[in-house]
Amino acid sequence: MTIPADLQFSQASLQDFVDCPRRFYLRYVLRVTWPAVAAEPVEEYERHQQLGLTFHRMVQQHLVGIPEARLTPLAADPDLERWWRNYCVYRPAEMLPDTTRYPEATLTAALAGRRLLAKYDLVVVQPGQRAVIFDWKTSPKRGKPLTLKARLQTRVYRYLLARAGAHLNGGQPFDPAQIEMVYWFAEHPEAPVRLPYDAAQYHDDKVYLTGLIEQILSLDEDAFLLTEDERRCAYCPYRSYCDRGVKAGTLGDDEDDATEDFAELRVEFDFEQIAEIAF
Ligand code: SF4
Repeated sequence: MTIPADLQFSQASLQDFVDCPRRFYLRYVLRVTWPAVAAEPVEEYERHQQLGLTFHRMVQQHLVGIPEARLTPLAADPDLERWWRNYCVYRPAEMLPDTTRYPEATLTAALAGRRLLAKYDLVVVQPGQRAVIFDWKTSPKRGKPLTLKARLQTRVYRYLLARAGAHLNGGQPFDPAQIEMVYWFAEHPEAPVRLPYDAAQYHDDKVYLTGLIEQILSLDEDAFLLTEDERRCAYCPYRSYCDRGVKAGTLGDDEDDATEDFAELRVEFDFEQIAEIAF
């Protein structure tokens, strides 16, 4: 089966392709839904997903003007209450003066004959001066800067803001050097990961993202291979479909750095796929 003509590429679908071409094919071409959770224990995984979604909704509502006092009663769970308290104390989006905030902004641009799309938690703009992309993270651990910098989310979000964000800046395209991406961790509010951008990275991202989409469009079905790194399968819902095991990976008790990254990022990015649908 060929890639559907209406498929818009996103950070989530491109990350799936990079992690495992077969996962991309199952999820976005065949659109296989498979009843398996990405991580164990199931109840904790699903609870975390739900709390993360509620936290994102509360922040989004606060950013559009609903008072903190009206939202606070929604944070009944102890984890959610702690995340919300940290958000209210640190006010990460209010650190810049004279800004315009764009919660849940969506940007899209043509690339390699297809559309590339990004849905942002928040873009804060000081017109003519700078733009800061905020992404809220509810994972227990603070992400590693180098891991986050290499993620498709960072590359797609910064690239598209430079490429297609002029209408957020009075009609003037942002210079890449005016753009920064901030991952703000609700469990580690004092230590956000800040990733500045520049013209060289913008050029690299354009070449890389174009090549990635062209590669996907050029492949035959049997070239979407299963990943050789089977550690990725432990946190993938298709593992029984692919005969790569039945039992899900366990959150939080892995001492292997790479496997730990898969677990943390899998949970966070599965949540982002839910969020893309929910909002
Ligand atoms: S189970 Fe493994 S091989 Fe199959 S789609 Fe998931 S990551 Fe790829």
